Amino acid sequence: MNSNELLPEALQGSSLKLKDNPSATKTLFIESYGCQMNFSDSEIVASILQNEGYTTTTQAGSADLILVNTCAIRDNAEIRVRQRLQDYKKIKSKSDKPVLIGVLGCMAERLKKQFLEEERLVDVVVGPDAYRDLPRLLHEAESGRQSINVLLSKEETYADIAPLRLDQNGVSGFVSIMRGCDNMCSFCVVPFTRGRERSRDPQSILQECEDAYNQGYREITLLGQNVDSYKFSSNTGIALFSDLLKLIAEHLPNLWIRFSTSHPKDMTDDVLQVMALYPNICKYIHLPVQSGSDSVLERMNRGYTSAWYLNRIKAIRHFIPDCAISTDIITGFCGENPSDHQETLQLMKTVNFDFAYMFMYSERPKTLAERKYTDDVPETEKHIRLQEVIALQREHSKNALQKYVGTNQWVLIEGDSKKSNAFWMGRNSQNAVVIFPKLDEKKGDRVNVSITSSTYTALLGNRIL
Ligand code: SF4
Repeated sequence: MNSNELLPEALQGSSLKLKDNPSATKTLFIESYGCQMNFSDSEIVASILQNEGYTTTTQAGSADLILVNTCAIRDNAEIRVRQRLQDYKKIKSKSDKPVLIGVLGCMAERLKKQFLEEERLVDVVVGPDAYRDLPRLLHEAESGRQSINVLLSKEETYADIAPLRLDQNGVSGFVSIMRGCDNMCSFCVVPFTRGRERSRDPQSILQECEDAYNQGYREITLLGQNVDSYKFSSNTGIALFSDLLKLIAEHLPNLWIRFSTSHPKDMTDDVLQVMALYPNICKYIHLPVQSGSDSVLERMNRGYTSAWYLNRIKAIRHFIPDCAISTDIITGFCGENPSDHQETLQLMKTVNFDFAYMFMYSERPKTLAERKYTDDVPETEKHIRLQEVIALQREHSKNALQKYVGTNQWVLIEGDSKKSNAFWMGRNSQNAVVIFPKLDEKKGDRVNVSITSSTYTALLGNRIL
């Protein structure tokens, strides 16, 4: 599973800042759960609705339209979304104006019947490939009919829709380069909720990156479920992910470029060579391994062995010695025995990941694993294994940060430190968080920082003048 899918509540409760729209007559509150792809989709939805006269509010209680962009990856996300929809239903029932509630995203297909008919929580249900249809669906809902479109498309990439940037920090933005996934990892629901893989025209991606830069963004993360299988064919030839990276890096040398997520079976040396060549492509790769056991990897249908994975790590270190590497790990997948778990710990020790997203396996409906395997590792055992993985990673993360102490790091300033607005928070190329006292810099500046110490999660230092 890729970190895209796993990052929890990346945009929970975030409000959208729409551009001034003098004809705006209605207000929109949108809340997103799950991955960065959902975050990015919410920007597309905001753009579509701006043309329909919507502006935004941060207060669900005053909105004409409440949208919840959902994630189906984890069971607790589902429980949480249902709870939120119940809260919004109460707001709607107390409001003295008509309010519409809609559910978007990955849960739409699976839970449409419950949300619409059985629990009557929402008026509109829209799947990830049907956002262009939102205006029609909303008109239908306004006239009292429950409306739904969860059709998946083989072509939709929203390439021509300029997203309205969710102004989280105004410095780091996301650009989707593809949609869907053709892999069938047995634990993953994405191929069923987001459909077949399709890639966007590189020129439209470049244009979106350039627009973001002109709006003040200084870092862009290119998003796809598996960026390494990016492939766009046209009359002029075929563009692969390495070509896309090169195109953006050359045209926008002052924009930092990140990407997520890479797939071990598809990551090529070409991509690594391009990364090594351009200083504005950040030296950070998220490469989900999931397990260190070949038999577990086979049941997961990941398409690689641990030896293959380690070979890819070797290639990264060969081409980009200063590259940070993070991963995803699932503990307690179907049939995982104690020695499989030990192999995961051993692989972690071999690689020394800078960072990891770690989860206990939770069976998702419709997946291959649900149909084919028994979820047979007891919850307590899954939990114990997860704690062991977390403890080991904690040490590795601490060591990974310690190695920066005594070095100078270029840091892109993202905003105030959470703990004190007398300090800045930014990240270096390797995605490590850096905290340092404010002088005369501003958000979005890239500054050189001398690293004086580290914690388990961040680097501390002072700007070099
Ligand atoms: S099926 Fe696709 S999205 Fe799901 S974990 Fe595998 S590569 Fe990622």
